[in-house]
Amino acid sequence: MSGKPTIAIDGPAASGKTVVGKELASRLKSRFLDTGNMYRAVTWAALDRNIGLKDEYALQELAETIEIRLVVNSGSDRLLVDSRDVTDLLRRLEIDRGVSDVSAVSGVRRAMVPQQRAVADQGPIVMVGRDIGTVVLPDAKVKVFLMASSQVRAQRRHRENLEKGITTDLRQVSIDLKLRDTQDTERADSPLRPADDALEIDTDSLSVEEVVALIMERVERI
Ligand code: C5P
Repeated sequence: MSGKPTIAIDGPAASGKTVVGKELASRLKSRFLDTGNMYRAVTWAALDRNIGLKDEYALQELAETIEIRLVVNSGSDRLLVDSRDVTDLLRRLEIDRGVSDVSAVSGVRRAMVPQQRAVADQGPIVMVGRDIGTVVLPDAKVKVFLMASSQVRAQRRHRENLEKGITTDLRQVSIDLKLRDTQDTERADSPLRPADDALEIDTDSLSVEEVVALIMERVERI
């Protein structure tokens, strides 16, 4: 391969996109963008301003007017909404539960996608989300769709929560993930699905290193 490719990684919640994407970006010395955080930021702003998560018009207006800025620090990237650092608020349960309503609104997506493309225009990137290979960067040289069974994904998310000191119930985590997957897969605009030319990887019994190795093989072949 000559140069660094644009890499699009999609998949359902807790399929390993972020950890795999960050590791790839670090190996390739590319940038990394987790687009889920942008939809989480809009959801945070909506809850903060008491905007109803079914109020499509208000959500669109909000998404068009707030400034979402990513500040890349060595070690930890910060996400700012109108200059307020909300990074540590984006994984809260109320955001997990509301984000799929917000991301299903076409007006919200129309505000986010050009910002994501503008980031990709600045140079090589690993971008992760739900519609990166299908909608945001359909010309990406490498497209990956990560899958894992709902039990494995619930266990991973539950473990992550415990590591962060958040007490959660495995059964409830599993219910919430399934609900979010259904909403993300069944929405009319940009539903979660693999691009026709995506490398589909079932990560159930693979380590992060093994998944990264499979993607690197694809990168080296282009
Ligand atoms: O990846 P993460 O779980 O943080 O994404 C949160 C939510 O944001 C997803 O459940 C989905 O509703 C939405 N999303 C999206 N399109 C993307 C990335 C995330 O609709 N490209």
